[in-house]
This record gives sequence, C-alpha cells and structure tokens, in this order.
Amino acid sequence: MTTTGTRPDIEGTKAEVQRIGFIFAMRAEGEGLVKRLGLKAQGRLDPDLPAVWFSGRVEGGSGGRNLEIAIAFAGEDPYHGCDRIGTLPATLAAYLLCRRFRPDLLVNAGTCGGFQREGASIGAVYVGGGDFLFHDRRIPLPKFDAFGIGRIPAIVDEAMRMALGAESGVISTGDSFEPTAEEQKFFERERVTCKEMEAASIASLSRDLGIRFLAVKAVTDLVDHPEPEKSAFARNLNRVSEILEERLIKLLEWMKVRE
Ligand code: SAH
Repeated sequence: MTTTGTRPDIEGTKAEVQRIGFIFAMRAEGEGLVKRLGLKAQGRLDPDLPAVWFSGRVEGGSGGRNLEIAIAFAGEDPYHGCDRIGTLPATLAAYLLCRRFRPDLLVNAGTCGGFQREGASIGAVYVGGGDFLFHDRRIPLPKFDAFGIGRIPAIVDEAMRMALGAESGVISTGDSFEPTAEEQKFFERERVTCKEMEAASIASLSRDLGIRFLAVKAVTDLVDHPEPEKSAFARNLNRVSEILEERLIKLLEWMKVRE
C-alpha cells in the first residue's frame, strides 16, 4: 500500500525555497526552459561525464523574491549518440548538481507513460504522490525485496502542486521502456499512474541528502492503450515538453511571489 501524498507538516515550504535545481533526462524535455529563463551554460558537472548544467537567476521584480535556478541534463552518451536516459546517469547528474549547487528543492521534470485506467491522458501533468516505486528490481530475498521496490515516500507540498496545475499520482521507475507482463500486473496492483525511468532513484538520493524533492511528469504516451508506446512517445515528445515548460514557468512565477 502507498502512503498518503500530502503531509501537512511540510506545507508552506515556499518561503524556505530559494535555490531550485532541475534535473532532466532528455535534452528535448528541458531545453525550452533553459532558453526561456536565459540560463548560462556552466559546462560539464564532472569533466569525465557528459552531464551538463546551466544556471541563472529569475528576478522577483517589485516585491517578489529572486530565485536561483540550475538545470542539469544527464547528457549525451558519446558511444551511442543518444541521451543518457535511465536511473544511473540521472542519479549521478543529480548528485553532482546537489553538491555543486546546493538546491533547497530538487525537481526531476520530464515525460512519462500514463495509465488511462488511473485517469491519465496525453499532455496531463502529474506530481509524484504516494510512494515512488521501482518496478524492475525484483529481488525475492528477505529485506532486499522491499529495498528493490523502494516505496520512497513522496512529500508533496499541496500549494506547489496547485501552482503547477498538476494532479498527484503514483510514479514507478524502471530502466526499460517496454514493460514485461509481470510489470503490467505490478502497475495495476500498485495503481501506478506514471511510468518512467528516473524519478524513484532521484527521490532516493534526495532522501539520503535531506533535500526536498518534487517529480513533475507530463504524459507522452499511454501504456494501457492499443497504440504502441514508442510511436506515441516520438509523436508527442515536443508538444508535451512545451506543456511541461509552461507548467514549470507557472511554478516559478508562483514561487517568486511573497506571501
Ligand atoms: N526511445 C525514445 C527515448 C526513450 S523514452 C526516443 O525515441 O527518443 C524514455 C524517456 O522518457 C525516459 O527518460 C523516461 O523517463 C521517459 N518516458 C516517457 N514515456 C515513457 C514510458 N512509456 N515508459 C518509460 N519511460 C518513459
């Protein structure tokens, strides 16, 4: 069972958040936000890894608060010529960003596969609620079984969720794009709304580092739908990334306003 997504004790964290770090797996998901905010390229997060980052300030204007923003990408794999999607590069990049930039809030933004049976549709935006799960870490040994699934509690600030205009949904992470029959049963049993490839591992890192974490995922494809996930993903990626960008801008606009 998952725990409830909202904890009253952490609501109203806005005033404590001034430095926001974003981590995107794919360049296409976040480059619009980098341009829109006019962030400056900071180069590689580590000289030996392809992860890169950008940073700058969002001015609060009269009466508002300035926000310091950093955006990191897992980077392009030099051996295969594609973005380094998945848990390992995302967690490494997030770790390096946290050490370099010291965010008050870490946001993993990106795309996901949605489940119609939980109400998802293409272009819908979710924040991770309940617990973050891993669907492909099957370890049938005492204690390791629970470690594999993760169940990292999502701590959702309701005001932040509202500012994003997002619903709350259970996010499950795995390193494969195509689900097995066993994973399909897991999604149904756990009432997963979003399936993607990074959030739970970054949630786990954030818990270790004691940094507030928010996952914001926009639906590019529907897992429980006859159209293959692959073709829907490719067709919707750019359009849905624009929707995601608009919502993240809304979040920052709201963050700027003093209450
Ligand atoms: N094959 C794609 C790239 C991979 S898509 C291409 O043609 O370019 C997977 C990326 O998008 C991951 O970073 C993941 O977090 C997210 N994603 C979107 N839809 C997904 C789905 N249905 N299943 C898993 N990950 C998904």
